[in-house]
Amino acid sequence: MLQALTRFFRRGSDESQLELTFQSAAPANAEQLLARLTTLGLKRISRVRLTRNRNVMVSFGAGVMRVHEGYLSAPEPVLRAIVCFVEGRTRADRRAAQRVIVTHPIVTKAPKERRERTHTDDAGMSEQLTEWHARYNTRHFHGRLKPVAMRVSRRMKSRLGHYSAAIAGGDVAEIAISRSHIRRHGWPEALHTLLHEMVHQWQDETGHTIDHGSTFRAKCREVGIAPYARRVLATRPGRAAGAQTLGRLAAREG
Ligand SMILES: [Zn+2]
Repeated sequence: MLQALTRFFRRGSDESQLELTFQSAAPANAEQLLARLTTLGLKRISRVRLTRNRNVMVSFGAGVMRVHEGYLSAPEPVLRAIVCFVEGRTRADRRAAQRVIVTHPIVTKAPKERRERTHTDDAGMSEQLTEWHARYNTRHFHGRLKPVAMRVSRRMKSRLGHYSAAIAGGDVAEIAISRSHIRRHGWPEALHTLLHEMVHQWQDETGHTIDHGSTFRAKCREVGIAPYARRVLATRPGRAAGAQTLGRLAAREG
């Protein structure tokens, strides 16, 4: 698109081409992105690191911001939203910014991480979870949730489960439940986690931000599960207080 535009202008006056190049030159690396965001009002961040972790779009804490590399090409309103996500004075400002940030489609050149598959021995558990997904869908969501890929995870140790949104041209949406959670805490708890993740699925499919905010809590009360999350959206355990992450992955942790 940009190339085509540039070529078009090259036939015209040099001046307009220069102007266009100046206006649309996308930052090429972390330093340039930081410089750009600083001109848009970013103050609290002194270092930007680019990430390819498809589950994290923007996270920050202690003066460092991690941004998915796909945001190098983001248009100005999205870059401004990133600044607001960090600097926003009110919760409402930051939430509005989140909604803008997630509209930017992430296209990554990184090789696709291979998703873990359910171990053959756990196929029975996975089938049961799929049956419960259908049952809960009818009972609590008017049957409107889409069928979702279900995985029993042997890798998941500290997390109990997660919902992972689909990626355009990539992975389908999935719910994963930790195998050790099922074994340690039993089916009633595992089904509670399943329903928690289904509320995230509902958020995703109805255009809400995937988080543990007021919409999430209201829906939890409606479906009859505890409206709290023991874990902040996609942050890592041990992160500095005040650190925030905007991710695609919602997880529940025990
Ligand atoms: Zn959650």
